[in-house]
Amino acid sequence: MDRYDVIIIGSGAGGGTLARRLALTGMQILLLERGDWLPREPQNWLSEDVFVENRYVSPDTWYDGDGKPFQPQVHYFVGGATKLYGAALYRLRERDFGEVRHHDGISPAWPIGYDEMEPYYTKAEHYYNVHGARGEDPTEPPASADYPFPAVSHEPRIQQLSDDFAGAGLHPFHAPCGIMLDEANMAYSACVRCQDCDGFPCLVHAKSDAEVLGVRPALEHPNVTLLRNTQAVRLVTNAAGTEVTGVVAVREGGQETFEADIVVLSCGAANSARLLLASANDQHPNGLANGSDQVGRNYMFHNSVAVLALSRDENPTVFQKTLGVNDFYFESDAWEYPMGNIQMIGKSQAPMFRGEKPIQTALAPTWSLEQVARHAVDFWLSTEDLPMPENRVTLDRDGRLTIAYTATNEEPKKQLFKQLKSMLKHLGMHDDLSPRHAYLKNDIPVAGCAHQAGTCRFGTDPATSVLNADCRAHELDNLYVVDTSFFPSIGAVNPALTAMANALRVGDHLEHRLDAQASSGAAT
Ligand SMILES: Cc1cc2nc3c(=O)[nH]c(=O)nc-3n(C[C@H](O)[C@H](O)[C@H](O)COP(=O)(O)OP(=O)(O)OC[C@H]3O[C@@H](n4cnc5c(N)ncnc54)[C@H](O)[C@@H]3O)c2cc1C
Ligand code: SF4
Repeated sequence: MDRYDVIIIGSGAGGGTLARRLALTGMQILLLERGDWLPREPQNWLSEDVFVENRYVSPDTWYDGDGKPFQPQVHYFVGGATKLYGAALYRLRERDFGEVRHHDGISPAWPIGYDEMEPYYTKAEHYYNVHGARGEDPTEPPASADYPFPAVSHEPRIQQLSDDFAGAGLHPFHAPCGIMLDEANMAYSACVRCQDCDGFPCLVHAKSDAEVLGVRPALEHPNVTLLRNTQAVRLVTNAAGTEVTGVVAVREGGQETFEADIVVLSCGAANSARLLLASANDQHPNGLANGSDQVGRNYMFHNSVAVLALSRDENPTVFQKTLGVNDFYFESDAWEYPMGNIQMIGKSQAPMFRGEKPIQTALAPTWSLEQVARHAVDFWLSTEDLPMPENRVTLDRDGRLTIAYTATNEEPKKQLFKQLKSMLKHLGMHDDLSPRHAYLKNDIPVAGCAHQAGTCRFGTDPATSVLNADCRAHELDNLYVVDTSFFPSIGAVNPALTAMANALRVGDHLEHRLDAQASSGAAT
């Protein structure tokens, strides 16, 4: 069958979730994914293969604003970036949906409020088995239901850290985690609580990723078809340029065109912009849906830094990503502007440090790398970066993708670093904080595009946005985007749950739209 009700391009957090949602409707859904299943193999859990050899990173070459080539940290598999993600599944804060004043300017408001997104956050937390504890995080937005699963417990060193943060007057909380862990019944738990989670694929499929909890449940329905190793390269429109009539894809060495009433892009923020720009035609000479020249602009990916502190006592923690601190998320007594979020990153292991100059030069002369790893307590500091029109994805005639990006909010990032550093002694650590690469690629910062967002932002004004509030292109009646491209601002917490929740919101809209079309068709 070559004509479908809905084609979804990309099977990650946005596309995989939408596929599962629409599977329930009985509509004919085609999911096109350029990658294959991520192979299940021992290397999934080997830090040398994953972090040093970049076994699961795409071989693409992109360019930064100075024309310097880099290998972007993107992952082309069924499930997309969620196959490797840390599964910290945060909601944006309620205030993130409005304008927020930052050191470097204004983080703009969303066209919908938190109240509209809330039911979908709750549903997404259920789809993705999120573990957490309400009421601990002072910035937590209101929720209509409890987390579906209890918080993942802290291991002793992290519990101590939590107690020490609390002793310093802060409000540490159990981070929301998407892992299928049953601590009360480990004999039956899918998750074995291992050290190879954040940045690794899960060998036992116990991570709440978009393959395991989006695509696979969708494929249980006979109305859903997945084509792997199928890369969409161009969208074709009708003569007036008002509707997408075909998706041209490269598959098995040839090109095929697929047709549907509705086409949904979810290729990730850079690749969705690329596909729109590559689909320029007479009616859309600057790229599809790009009459406003907004496609590709306002690229964001968080102004983050991974840092390592050395605990005076050894840190034998296995699963470290259980703690967060949001006391500096907005303006506070400590500073008049928002600084951001502090959370833990996966526990560092000695092989990961290979090639990390900051660690080798700062610590290795006095500490062996194994010693560093044994004492390491690893934090991730995330500051919101602001959408800037000149921070953008562009495509040249030869199909070269460039990401031009100048950081914003550097000062709040420094302030957050200083805050944490000033507390280290009280936290039982040596008084030094070393920046790490982790998956952030500090040598060419834009390569660490794990949290990429914002290239097709949604809004009410077609002059300043690409999509309307339903995530439909202003200029094309049947084209939607549900990956993180739609974010008009990114907040300072991890983006995946927001992409998942929004995909469920758009899923509701599409179901109503197609139902209405079907009944009006039936009536005539
Ligand atoms: C190492 C790592 C750790 C992370 N940790 C966290 C975390 O703890 N919490 C969190 O919230 N977020 C985390 N993230 C970010 C999170 O994974 C992303 O925000 C999220 O997956 C984005 O969803 P998406 O739908 O926009 O894109 P993706 O999930 O990347 O999906 C895009 C999909 O489109 C496919 N595709 C691309 N182009 C085409 C094409 N032309 N044709 C067909 N298919 C195409 C890709 O192969 C991919 O499957 C992490 C990311 C990484 C890489
Ligand atoms: S901690 Fe659990 S979910 Fe994460 S990789 Fe290990 S087994 Fe999988």
